[in-house]
Amino acid sequence: MARMTRREFLKASSAVVALSGLAGCASTGGAPTTTSTPGDLAPNRSGRRVIVIGGGWGGATAAKYVRMQDPAIEVVLLEPNDKFISCPFSNLVVSGVRSIESLTFGYDGLRKQHGVKIMRESATAIEPDAHRVRLARGFLTYDRLIVAPGIDFQTEQIEGLAAAGDRVLHAWKAGPQTVALAQQLKEMPDDGVFVLSVPPAAYRCPPGPYERACQVAWYLKTRKPRAKLIVLDANQNVISKPALFRAAWQAYPNLEYRASNKVVKVDAAARELTTEFGDKVRYDVANVIPPQRAAAIAVQADLVGVDKRWCEVNHVTYESVKAKDVHVVGDSTIGIPVPKSGTVANSMGKIAATAVVNLLNGRPAPEMPPINTCYSWVSDTEVMAVINAYRIDSGKVVQIEQKLTPGQSALYAHHAEAWATSIWADILA
Ligand SMILES: Cc1cc2nc3c(=O)[nH]c(=O)nc-3n(C[C@H](O)[C@H](O)[C@H](O)COP(=O)(O)OP(=O)(O)OC[C@H]3O[C@@H](n4cnc5c(N)ncnc54)[C@H](O)[C@@H]3O)c2cc1C
Repeated sequence: MARMTRREFLKASSAVVALSGLAGCASTGGAPTTTSTPGDLAPNRSGRRVIVIGGGWGGATAAKYVRMQDPAIEVVLLEPNDKFISCPFSNLVVSGVRSIESLTFGYDGLRKQHGVKIMRESATAIEPDAHRVRLARGFLTYDRLIVAPGIDFQTEQIEGLAAAGDRVLHAWKAGPQTVALAQQLKEMPDDGVFVLSVPPAAYRCPPGPYERACQVAWYLKTRKPRAKLIVLDANQNVISKPALFRAAWQAYPNLEYRASNKVVKVDAAARELTTEFGDKVRYDVANVIPPQRAAAIAVQADLVGVDKRWCEVNHVTYESVKAKDVHVVGDSTIGIPVPKSGTVANSMGKIAATAVVNLLNGRPAPEMPPINTCYSWVSDTEVMAVINAYRIDSGKVVQIEQKLTPGQSALYAHHAEAWATSIWADILA
């Protein structure tokens, strides 16, 4: 067996210290499901432990709502990042309208107000039969697991993209790439060409790329009027709010939209993208949003369908159709007629939490449909929106109706700000 360095030993010890509170968590009378087993970072003495993988829109909500509904249930949230950075509104960071700091929040509310035990770690594997989640240095057992890791990129589907490294950004997980893309836009030549590529559906946030197109076009119009934006869309048409986006683009003659133009190759040295029909498009800044699938942990745990992309779940409990006592929420899921949005992930987090609390208390899960609202910023001051309502019909989520705002306005921008403030608090405070 390899010897531990002093640094590794200290790291491992601090993980155990961080977890020591877990082992002593209030028991609710359930028999211990695990005694001390080598590698068990904190034996599950309460017998009512929920582990949540991922502290984003779905997972942080689920962790909070399990604790709010039954404080006797122990909740452990695994999240490698120490801050939550909101993707919603991050297109405004690209255009310099907002700062990344204004979208960045800590996890203190979950920890202090709701008693969620947060470990700054990634889950490395899930063992559904043993009810275990593996971490770098051992494992934790659970009674119910909620998996909310979001998406990962199928970078390998675009030749040359991996090799392009930081020269070609996606900025599709808010954070350092968002700030770096804003910088690339700022530094672009005054008569430069910005190319934005939209991946084939399904992907995170259907209107998101078109909102980004508005923000880049707005920035260029106001700061670099000789520059141009080309949108290369892998889809046959704008796939969300098409009439509203096309109306908004009337204000941006600097925006050229090309449907059915899937990017298949990046040549970062020549600053050139190639589409599937062989067209070559030269750029000064390329923002390539790659095709997507459920995040690595969900794929590796085989929670995904035959296409190895998305997780199928029960529409009432969000339990995986492939693994018992494992629930999946947020962008990793598919099969439910809802978009991959933050509002939906937040909604799923609450519904899955309610299901888990009921099931752990021997009660059936109530039928609760999700909701969706999605605001899109078309300039620095104006917004338009869509809202979807759903119901549960014979155990399946079905859409009842979809409503769009009649156009864009500054009033809807106020609604968007109110939505963001309240949903961030709902997730984290
Ligand atoms: C530019 C942009 C704009 C958007 N605008 C909107 C909008 O206006 N409105 C809206 O509703 N939605 C919007 N969205 C979509 C929204 O951000 C997503 O739908 C939402 O974040 C999905 O939530 P999630 O919990 O599934 O994933 P995330 O919020 O991405 O959370 C996943 C978390 O899991 C963690 N994780 C991953 N793997 C592991 C692991 N192995 N172990 C532990 N943790 C792990 C990650 O670190 C991450 O924190 C936008 C998205 C983008 C990119």
